[in-house]
Amino acid sequence: MKLTSLCVYCGSSTGNEPSMMAEADRFGHMMAKEGVGLVYGGGGVGLMGAVARAVLAGGGQVTGVIPRFLTEIEVQFDEVSELIVTDSMHARKQLMFERAQAFVALPGGIGTVEETIEMLTWAQLGRHSQPIIIANLNGFWDPMIELLDHIIKAGFARSNIRSIYSVVDKVEDILPRIEASL
Ligand code: AMP
Repeated sequence: MKLTSLCVYCGSSTGNEPSMMAEADRFGHMMAKEGVGLVYGGGGVGLMGAVARAVLAGGGQVTGVIPRFLTEIEVQFDEVSELIVTDSMHARKQLMFERAQAFVALPGGIGTVEETIEMLTWAQLGRHSQPIIIANLNGFWDPMIELLDHIIKAGFARSNIRSIYSVVDKVEDILPRIEASL
């Protein structure tokens, strides 16, 4: 199956390492080049903004899904191809889930962690089997991967949850990894 819509979870901040913004930008251009549309949280700030701008700059399609309260207090990104405003965070996350064939976690904060873990949880419960890719740029996600291993070791999750997600080290590996499992 051809990948046409990808949900990217990532920081609404830029982080301290300039390379993270640069990698988000590079990944957005790769998506556009491969004809992969972006589904994301609709923000214009941080890595979120970098990915969205790059997809658009490359001629790609961007769908932003944002809860109304964030449009009132935060910087949304008006240039998206399609902006969907939801009544709640829950509705937003559900819609992002429904609109995407696969999920990627670029570096980010607790919002990114929550969204990524939620997709792992839903997969663990058999609600979906779409690919989930952890983009471990510069080892950023090492502590989260270690936490997942720790949970398995302590007997609070089965080791087969490792098959729910894939870890890649470079943005170049994200799309091929997804294409291989669709
Ligand atoms: P974090 O990783 O904590 O920076 O949070 C990233 C997530 O927070 C995004 O995927 C959104 O769910 C949400 N978020 C934070 N700021 C914004 C914003 N300005 N516009 C849209 N979503 C945002």
